[in-house]
Amino acid sequence: MRIIKNHNRNKSLMALAMIWTMSFLPLIVPAQTRVNMPKNKYKVQDDVRVGREAAAQVARQFPLLNDGPADQYIDRIGSRLVAAIPSQFQQPAFDYRFEVVNARDINAFALPGGPMYVNRGMIEAARNEGEIAGVMAHEISHIALRHATAQQTKVSNPLNQILGIGAILGGAVLGGQTGAQLGQIFAQGYFTRYSRDYETQADVLGSQIMAEAGYDPRDLANMFRTIEQQSGGGRGPEFLSSHPNPGNRYENINREADLLRVTSNTIKITPEFRRVQERLNSLPRARSMAEIARDYRGGQGQEQSPTYGGGRYSSRVALPSARTRVYTDGSSIRLSVPDNWREFAGQGTLTFAPEGAYGDQGITHGAMIGIHRSNSGNALQASENYVNGILQSNPYLRQQSRFSNASVAGRQGYAIVLTGRSPVTGRNEVVAVFTAPMQNGSLLYINAVAPEEESYRYNPAFRNIINSIRING
Ligand SMILES: [Zn+2]
Repeated sequence: MRIIKNHNRNKSLMALAMIWTMSFLPLIVPAQTRVNMPKNKYKVQDDVRVGREAAAQVARQFPLLNDGPADQYIDRIGSRLVAAIPSQFQQPAFDYRFEVVNARDINAFALPGGPMYVNRGMIEAARNEGEIAGVMAHEISHIALRHATAQQTKVSNPLNQILGIGAILGGAVLGGQTGAQLGQIFAQGYFTRYSRDYETQADVLGSQIMAEAGYDPRDLANMFRTIEQQSGGGRGPEFLSSHPNPGNRYENINREADLLRVTSNTIKITPEFRRVQERLNSLPRARSMAEIARDYRGGQGQEQSPTYGGGRYSSRVALPSARTRVYTDGSSIRLSVPDNWREFAGQGTLTFAPEGAYGDQGITHGAMIGIHRSNSGNALQASENYVNGILQSNPYLRQQSRFSNASVAGRQGYAIVLTGRSPVTGRNEVVAVFTAPMQNGSLLYINAVAPEEESYRYNPAFRNIINSIRING
C-alpha cells in the first residue's frame, strides 16, 4: 500500500514537473549562436559589381556543365537555402545564382553578391542532399555576411585605396586583377582564404540556414568526413585546404545543431538526388581543377585546341553547312571549310569542328589537319607511323583497310579508314586519314571524323577540304 501511495504521489509530481518544464522550455534551452555582421566599409553594391566581374571571368575559364537536370536540382536546393537566410542578412541587391562546374574535385566556391559554383565532383561524392546543401549553405553564408568585402575592410592599406575596390577584390576573390591576363584565377587559387572567425561564422550561419530550410545541419559536418574519406589520405581536397580547420569544426557544427530546431523529417536521399547522381555518374569523367588550370594555361596565347575550348558535346550536331568559307593563316595554309565549323589553331595542328562536336576528349565531328614530322624518306612508311600513333592514343579505333592511293592537296598521297566505338558518343565512329608528302620529308595529314551513320552527310565537306587545301613548303 505504501509503495503504491508513494508511487501515485511521485506520478503527480512528475506530471507537474513535466508541465513546468514544457511551459518553460523555450527559456531553458540555450538560444542558437548569435551571428554578427562583420564590419564592412564597402557598399552592398560593391559586392554585387565585383562578383559580377568575377563571374564573367569564371564563365570564360571554367567548364560549366550546363546540364539541365543537374542545374535545376542545384537551383532548387539553392533557392530553398536562400529563402531561409535570416531576415537581417538578406540583401535585396544580391542575386544568388548557382552553376555546376564540370570538375571532379569535391569543391564549391562563391563570389560576392551571389554567384556560386558547385563542382560536379561534390554532387557525386555527397551521401545525401543534406551534404550538398551543407556546403552550399556554408558558401551562401560567406556571401550573405559579405565576407569578401569585410576581409578587405580589415586589411586596408594605402595601396588598396589607390587601386580601388574593383582591382583589390578582383585580386582578392579570384587572384587576378580586373582586365589582367586571364588565367590568374588558377595562378593564385580561385577563392579567398577567409580568416578562421569567418569560417566559423559561415559554419554557424550555414547550420542555422540549413535547419530553417528543412535540412539537418549535421550533414554539413558529415560532409567534411565524406570529403576526408574520399580524398583517401592523399593531398587534401581543395575545399578543406582552402577552408582550414577552425578548431574542432565537426564538433562545433554538431553543437550548433543541438541548439537548433531541426525537423524530425529532414531532407536526405530524395528521388531527384538519386537521379542526378546517376546522371552525372554516366557522363565522361570530368577533369580535375588542376588539369583544367593546366589546359587553360596551355590554351593561352596562340595555342588553341578543341580539348580546352570549353566545348560541350551534344547529341544533336548541326550538319555541315553547304556554304563554305576560306581559311588561311596568311602564308602557309589555305583551305575551304563549312562556314558553321569553328577553327582551333594550335601549334602544328588546325582543327575544324561544329558546336557540340568538340570538348575535353577531342572532336566527334570535323577535321584535324597538321604536319607529322618524320625522318622516314618513304611517305607510305611515314603514314604508317603516323597512323600507329593515332591507334595508340585512341585505343578504340581499328584499321578497316590498307592504305590506298589518293589525291590529297594536289599531291599523290594516301588514305586509310579507322573505325571504332567512340567513348564520347557511344556510337561507331569513322576516322578517314589522308596523308600527303611534303617537300622537307614531313607529312601533311587530314583526319576526317564523323559518326558512322552520319558519315555520308559529311563526305562532301571532307572531300572539299582534301581538294581545296594548299600548303606552301
Ligand atoms: Zn568557407
